[in-house]
Amino acid sequence: MLIAGNWKLFKGPREAREFCGALAAAVDTSGIEVAVCPPFVSLAAALEGVRGSAVQVFAQSVHWAETGAFTGEVSAAMLAEVGVAGAIVGHSERRQYFGETDETVARRSEAALAAGLRVIACVGETLAERDGSRVEEVLRRQTAAIADAVGPHANLVVAYEPVWAIGTGRTASPEQAQEAHAIIRDILDVPILYGGSVKAENAPVLLAQPDVDGALVGGAALEVTSFAGICAAARAVA
Ligand code: PEP
Repeated sequence: MLIAGNWKLFKGPREAREFCGALAAAVDTSGIEVAVCPPFVSLAAALEGVRGSAVQVFAQSVHWAETGAFTGEVSAAMLAEVGVAGAIVGHSERRQYFGETDETVARRSEAALAAGLRVIACVGETLAERDGSRVEEVLRRQTAAIADAVGPHANLVVAYEPVWAIGTGRTASPEQAQEAHAIIRDILDVPILYGGSVKAENAPVLLAQPDVDGALVGGAALEVTSFAGICAAARAVA
């Protein structure tokens, strides 16, 4: 069971260090894995904050090239040198606002895994796709792109994040999450996280689904109390 907090564009280095120190003191990681995913500039500070604890630090993206003319990007080797454990790849906000495609998600995943990083690769349908009964088609296409590139790699985790549930307060029902996770697992048998408005209150029922192996958390990961509450819910079902 992995609980990962995606901070998005929140928390500079000072706040990251303080938050991670407080989180490390507040969270019980026995039986589960806990990770935070700060912005690039806050990775080193977050690593200082979690030092001595089992809390891991992941980046929010990673480029496929080792070096080159790719302004604004960061390579897997650079992340490994800083000491992070892994990276999120293909978050829907990156697909939506920064032109991420199934192909670039596959290339980023491949490079990160080859460099020894762990990868949380994100998939999920939009509301229009769900309303158009295209959930299975979309999940199969997005997951197959990752599977074709890297297969069921030991360092790969997939996150099912229905786009309509991210930052909206709308959560997939436990049945919707389970159904989607089963489709993904049919193609790629790796741990599968659920993401989309997960909170301490709804975490127990979501995490209790047989094919839900953890959570990718946005808004509720920005406060120690709420994030630690989700981690406690994970421990209860782990
Ligand atoms: C996310 O950013 O991956 C996410 C699921 O956000 P939220 O929990 O705020 O919906």
